[in-house]
Amino acid sequence: VLQIKNLHKGFGDLEVLNGFNLTLFEGENLVMMGKSGSGKSVMIKCLVGLMEPDQGSIEVLGNDISTLARHEMDELRTEIGFLFQGSALYDSMTVRENLEFPLRRHTKKFDLKNTDALVHEALENVGLPNTINLMPAELSGGMQRRIALARALILQPKIILYDEPTTGLDPITSKEIIELMKTIQKKYNTSSLIITHDVDCARVISNRMILLLDGINYAEGTFEELSSSKDPKIMAFFK
Ligand code: ATP
Ligand code: MG
Repeated sequence: VLQIKNLHKGFGDLEVLNGFNLTLFEGENLVMMGKSGSGKSVMIKCLVGLMEPDQGSIEVLGNDISTLARHEMDELRTEIGFLFQGSALYDSMTVRENLEFPLRRHTKKFDLKNTDALVHEALENVGLPNTINLMPAELSGGMQRRIALARALILQPKIILYDEPTTGLDPITSKEIIELMKTIQKKYNTSSLIITHDVDCARVISNRMILLLDGINYAEGTFEELSSSKDPKIMAFFK
């Protein structure tokens, strides 16, 4: 569903991505790990068209995104759910308004008359049906993360990108979020790319993993394969 080939991206003298490759297959949970500053968020921005690669190709659901017109890219983005690093809810909007926001921007895919039903379904999915009229500040960190997840899912995307879904949460809440991600994956058969530093998260959710180091995919394999590797550079990821 997603293919990145030979991606290069730098800023001035700083080479961040240096020939990075990635393939995400339908229905899988692919975990990507990489040190802070290694270019994970840059890669995601290239993927959703927020940043232009210096070199390389990106294919999303069979479309080479460099050939798409702006409105075509907007359309394709409705198939990609995105859980930002942090929760990034709109603080001045209620939960309902936060969830309605993507729907209003993409009236083509959904008839606005169904908005209410979609908002309710999304809140049921994350187990928070009674928060609809609350403000983000009235929710705990874990609840905010759930609402952000509900918002990422509301357009019923085929692909979900998670940028550090468990960062800043206590271990129990992290586990709950991970379970929720698994439940959602099963229910909608979404394909997920999960960026995380959290070894427990990787262990529980990954079908496959990819390690980003020095701008390239340094190693790929299952959690068991990589976590038992004797390569010191790979071992460092699992400490
Ligand atoms: P973290 O795990 O901390 O989120 P990351 O792997 O997501 O790290 P990126 O945010 O992708 O890291 O940043 C990679 C590098 O690119 C950093 O050195 C950052 O300073 C640089 N960078 C990112 N965006 C820009 C930009 N718009 N202009 C200049 N440099 C940038
Ligand atoms: Mg990042």
